[in-house]
Amino acid sequence: MSRFLTEKHNGLSPYVPGEQPKDDQYIKLNTNELPFPPSPLAQRLAREAAGTVNLYCDPECTALRKTAAEVWNVDPDEIMFANGSDDVLNYAFSAFCDEKHPLVFPDVTYSFYTSIAALNHVPYEEIPVDEEFRILPEDYYSCNKNVLLANPNAPSGIALPLSVIEKILQTNPDNIVMIDEAYIDFGGETATKLINRYDNLVVIRTFSKSCGMAGARLGAAIACKELIEDMNRLRNSLNPYCINSMTMQAGIGALLDRSYFESCLKRIGAIREDAAEKLRAAGFTVTSSTTNFLFVKHPAYPGKEIYEDLKKKNILIRHFNTPRLKEWARISIGNEEEMEVLLETLLGLLKERTDA
Ligand code: PMP
Repeated sequence: MSRFLTEKHNGLSPYVPGEQPKDDQYIKLNTNELPFPPSPLAQRLAREAAGTVNLYCDPECTALRKTAAEVWNVDPDEIMFANGSDDVLNYAFSAFCDEKHPLVFPDVTYSFYTSIAALNHVPYEEIPVDEEFRILPEDYYSCNKNVLLANPNAPSGIALPLSVIEKILQTNPDNIVMIDEAYIDFGGETATKLINRYDNLVVIRTFSKSCGMAGARLGAAIACKELIEDMNRLRNSLNPYCINSMTMQAGIGALLDRSYFESCLKRIGAIREDAAEKLRAAGFTVTSSTTNFLFVKHPAYPGKEIYEDLKKKNILIRHFNTPRLKEWARISIGNEEEMEVLLETLLGLLKERTDA
């Protein structure tokens, strides 16, 4: 830290992202990316846009919002795009949360939330999930604070039904309820259809997971027009050109190419269920994930050792070294071949252990 860093920032503890190795020595199952490339249409439109980057990109993302509005069945004025959903979260936090408007979210959930709360000086309370990593809905009814829930939650992959989200909205009418739907396309019911009924709802989406565009950085907020205006006030004060022309066009392509999108989701669902079944048969506890990752533990094989042993075999998964999560390992769903290698390696390692 230099002697120039301002006092308000010297207590920050930034989010630690999963490893991003610089070579392709690994089968990479650690950061919940899609194992397939983005849609061919998304790629073509992005390539074409590359020839136009002498000009500034459209700060209002007009064409992208129009396409997204049609696909998501909302109005273009009910959408704001930003540089990944992490960026959207930052605008939502800084628009709606402060000392007078504190926040609650589960313990355990996406660990970035604590970093972004600290950056924005937002007091927060973490409400424990139960032993099986389930969010207890009653904890959030009439809680009288802003609420942030990942649905499905991470790293458990477990989704809450829409009826619960609706009750949280109804019982907290004077607080903002943010629903982070990073993994919703893989399973679960989106809250988007509720934005016209609840002026306190912000749905947050990303193109990083289901659209295979993690490296392009595209996220969205979907909410009533007034909330979108508030977040745009922040976005346009900080970085109005936060979506580059290529990403904007790739986003349009990903949204238009429904058949590619649907086929990717179907493939991921099938691979996930097959892997979950094989892991359960080998004695693993596997949470009921409706996402593109599995959260697993085995009585004879601590999560940290699974992570370390797999890394030695050139397979990267994610381990969280915190008291509640240390027994567990999170495995992103790879393609068919990658998951075959993962399962063969992991089950082989387990056998060596239990035979020894
Ligand atoms: N929300 C959740 C629950 C996530 O797991 C992630 C990705 N790690 C994000 C948001 C951020 O996604 P991105 O910034 O790539 O859109």
